[in-house]
Amino acid sequence: MAKILCVLYPDPVDGYPPTYARDSIPTLRGYPNGQTLPTPSGLDFVPGELVGCVSGELGLRKFLEAAGHTLVVTSDKEGPDSVFDRELRDADVVISQPFWPAYLTAERIASAPKLKLAITAGIGSDHVDLDAAIKAGITIAEETYSNSISVAEHAVMQILALVRNFLPSHEWVAGGGWNIADSASRAYDIEGMSVGVVAAGRIGQAVLRRLAPFDVALHYFDTHRLAPEIEDELHLTFHPDAASLARSVDVVSIHAPLHPKTYHLFDAEVIASMRRGSYIVNTARAEIVVRDAIVDALETGQLAGYAGDVWYPQPPAADHPWRTMPNNAMTPHVSGTSLSAQARYAAGVREILESYFAHKPIREEYLIVDGGSLAGAGASSYTTDGTISPGSSGR
Ligand code: NDP
Repeated sequence: MAKILCVLYPDPVDGYPPTYARDSIPTLRGYPNGQTLPTPSGLDFVPGELVGCVSGELGLRKFLEAAGHTLVVTSDKEGPDSVFDRELRDADVVISQPFWPAYLTAERIASAPKLKLAITAGIGSDHVDLDAAIKAGITIAEETYSNSISVAEHAVMQILALVRNFLPSHEWVAGGGWNIADSASRAYDIEGMSVGVVAAGRIGQAVLRRLAPFDVALHYFDTHRLAPEIEDELHLTFHPDAASLARSVDVVSIHAPLHPKTYHLFDAEVIASMRRGSYIVNTARAEIVVRDAIVDALETGQLAGYAGDVWYPQPPAADHPWRTMPNNAMTPHVSGTSLSAQARYAAGVREILESYFAHKPIREEYLIVDGGSLAGAGASSYTTDGTISPGSSGR
């Protein structure tokens, strides 16, 4: 029987369960590329419930305990005395969400001799030291596509929020004012602007598709060019690198995985080459940009705005400069954990566990690392050779 260690974000401050705003979520038929939704044998939660926090337990306890396994759920993940570190020593399976990542460093992997499977509840496994996991023979899997559209919607929202100066305008009325001139003095239309995405994968393409009706000029950079039919349909301009894209557009939206080739892609030099008053939205990973270069560019006005939901580390310190830098529209890491997204990735986690315990193959598209190398979705999205080791505490 196995021990499953699950690290989830804390419950709502007003207690669990929350009062839900709606009674149900829509039922989807599948993902945009034809991939099927998760297919667990059953579910012990109602889709639309908050299962991503500690008391929600991803809806896994009944299923795991009925099969004789042990489930430990905690949000305490930092430092050598954390529940995570203590419980990791004899854990067989670790489940962690990128929103509240349990950083699975080489040291932690070395302290967990029984660990065989690390599941990312969501998408993005850069909180795991992939090199160390490969060497230790650990399988890493995530629920590919489960929250891609959720993130795309958030990115489009944040682009509009920045360009149209939504948050400051809202704050004027919430504070009792009617300051139209103050609200309008930084508000623009995106119509006619050039918008570029870095990485046109599942999320990046969904952002391009959602922005096309706004009559913007769409650009993208990716390691592989999209099919000519897609480029023609969306009138896309391809760029061979991020720097070329950055200097050609008014708005950049970042959707690449974090790995050595994307680490610090947007540094002071690239940002300085952008048009004055550009906007960057980053819902991918914080370390794809240089933290203080963003702060400096907002302070000088080189950037007119920065938004996103990804930070490093997570949770960030109370004095993290992105909380207070000018013209930011940051949120906590929430885009991929809407109640709609949780229903899909929690079902996907259960599907992965069912396959693992039945000694059946985990779906190829869910795999990041398997059999001692990058595999499945991980083989096309990640590289492990380079100067940083994602998931390592030393970065
Ligand atoms: P996909 O795997 O569908 O897309 C990733 C894309 O990135 C691929 O097209 C890939 O190119 C491209 N890519 C990889 N390396 C580079 C590089 N060096 N330069 C340019 N492009 C590159 O993943 P998703 O779209 O589903 O997710 C993307 C990322 O978004 C995740 O890795 C995660 O970090 C983040 N994310 C954030 C969430 C949130 O809540 N904020 C939730 C979900 C994901 P190719 O395959 O052509 O080589």
